[in-house]
Amino acid sequence: MIIHLDLDTFFVSAHRTVDISLNNRPVAVGGRSNLKIFEKEKVGIKLFNKNQGAFVNPVFYNDKAQSFQNFFIDHSDDGAQKVRGIIVTSSYEARAKGVKTGMPLAEALRLCPDMEVLVPDYMLYHDLSHKLYRFLQHEIPSVEQFSIDEFFGDLNGWVREEDVFAYATRLKVLIWQKFRLPISIGISSSKWIAKLATKYAKPNGVKMVRRSEISDFIEDIPIENFPGIGRGYRKRLKKHFIKTLGEASRHKDLFYSWKTPGRVLYHRIVGDDHEAVSAAQDRKSIGISRTFDPICDKSEVLRRIMILARHIAFLVLKQRVHPTSYYLKVNFDQGQRLKIRVTSERLFSETLCKALFHDMFEEIKPASGCATKISMSVSNFSYQKKRALSLLSFSEDYEAYRLSQSLHTLREKYTLDIVKYGSEL
Ligand SMILES: [Mg+2]
Repeated sequence: MIIHLDLDTFFVSAHRTVDISLNNRPVAVGGRSNLKIFEKEKVGIKLFNKNQGAFVNPVFYNDKAQSFQNFFIDHSDDGAQKVRGIIVTSSYEARAKGVKTGMPLAEALRLCPDMEVLVPDYMLYHDLSHKLYRFLQHEIPSVEQFSIDEFFGDLNGWVREEDVFAYATRLKVLIWQKFRLPISIGISSSKWIAKLATKYAKPNGVKMVRRSEISDFIEDIPIENFPGIGRGYRKRLKKHFIKTLGEASRHKDLFYSWKTPGRVLYHRIVGDDHEAVSAAQDRKSIGISRTFDPICDKSEVLRRIMILARHIAFLVLKQRVHPTSYYLKVNFDQGQRLKIRVTSERLFSETLCKALFHDMFEEIKPASGCATKISMSVSNFSYQKKRALSLLSFSEDYEAYRLSQSLHTLREKYTLDIVKYGSEL
């Protein structure tokens, strides 16, 4: 299944993480078209590189330092004051009074006079968004950042379909505990239906639409609620008296007459687009760790290392990378920590991965004590270094690689518990 995560009233929520006095009352973040780029003296420009290439202009102005007065109020020559700007995001308390995104600030303040209007702090939003992205990369095998407050995650092979709802609910709780950010999660077999489901999960909820439920789910949903249906398509569809996604799904030929974009949109609406979650290839390492009650039996520790190695292999194959560094660390109950790193230029496969971690564990020879934590990671992906993989044991490795690939295909379909090696039992 694919999940879509969308932070609730993100900019407002971001301010609430640093100022709890903003909780449970009408709050909005306002915006003004930024004319500072035309100013001769550029003060307070910040270049934000962490979310490079993701979305939104990486150049910011330090608006945060400004007060409501000098950010939103214009003074005309005759001394009159005028509230300028629009609503960028508003809290649910403000929305209850009719405040909407895009509404002129002056109008919103008439509807909701006790609303607190905040000056945007893009540094804060980007920082939180980036931290959440890193967290999700750690939790989900494949994550795509879709916008500053939206992410897709591919759970195929990682979580069983019957467990996905519970998994998403747990993720939501974790995000709240770690970041104090409310988030909604949509789940479905396709990306765009998952994104649509999120709308119906809000606020602060989880909504799952199974493949078999898609046609019922979309039946009465107005076309304009679908991601990617803008004014242009809305006009064209209304010309054919199509108002709901259900009606749209019965007009395949019409969509097909609009060439590729129409065809793409049609398959997104019916949920059989098969579009993949496109994870950025910017990961530097893939790792996993587990803490447990002390285990004194060496073979049990090794068995656990093999299980974690299988998970690492799954993540590596999912990301389509070729690691060349392998790292193992085991913590023991008397505070001893043993770590080892090896380099291998050989073609990656699950067999190789397990063999390397097996040998590393044999190598570390704990003096005494019981293991309490295992941490494993792989890094130095060869596509980054562009170095040639070892040709020495190539044919043998290639066989193992092929086997890994076919296992991976099976696991993508039936989850990664479907095939295990003897070493894990
Ligand atoms: Mg949002």
